[in-house]
Amino acid sequence: MQWLIDFLMLFFPSNCLVCSKRLHAPRDILCLECEINMPKTGYVEHHNNPVSEIFWGRVPVRAGTALFRFEKGSAYQTLLHDLKYRGNRKAGLYLGRLLGQELKYSFFSDCDLIIPVPLHRRRMKQRGYNQSEIIARGASEITGIPVITHLIERKKRSRSQTAMSRQERFENMASAFTLCGYNQDLHAKKILIIDDVITTGATLEACSQVLFSNFTCEIYTAAVSCA
Ligand SMILES: [Zn+2]
Repeated sequence: MQWLIDFLMLFFPSNCLVCSKRLHAPRDILCLECEINMPKTGYVEHHNNPVSEIFWGRVPVRAGTALFRFEKGSAYQTLLHDLKYRGNRKAGLYLGRLLGQELKYSFFSDCDLIIPVPLHRRRMKQRGYNQSEIIARGASEITGIPVITHLIERKKRSRSQTAMSRQERFENMASAFTLCGYNQDLHAKKILIIDDVITTGATLEACSQVLFSNFTCEIYTAAVSCA
């Protein structure tokens, strides 16, 4: 089989997205070295971890996790940036699969469904896709947990949150989401909400609130990285 891969690589050469080193398998995004150097958190093994703690006393999320901890200049940031601003869906699927590999062998694996944090319709039109959904699809491919979209809708177009204080972020987010897929019965379901990055938790908290106010369900959260 290697001869076939080598043969194909002659016509479809690819390089590591981060260090530009030549790759040896057609579907790879990163070289092995860049992949293993990314700063994994290991949170997925523990119910109580710094991401779960973000929700304590605010919303009864069972547990949360993030694949990578913040590290300036790390390869995952290049991938997230390419996914969000350069239309690189492959980078998102790749990150989603890495997340899925971690979730698959953890207590997150018995979740019944995955809901990606929705984008506002106008933002979706601009970008052409929802980056959280791409990540969720990658994770779903590995875990086998189905992805459900169009259940929660983002009704308010969120302004950029970077210049906002913590309090302002929560107020900005509190009424941003609404339930639209009433035909789904989510009672007693274990739901995993996936976002690209988790910072203050305001977005995931707002999504969770919408589900909690309509269903008696369990909620877990996961993101590619945390700040
Ligand atoms: Zn590399």
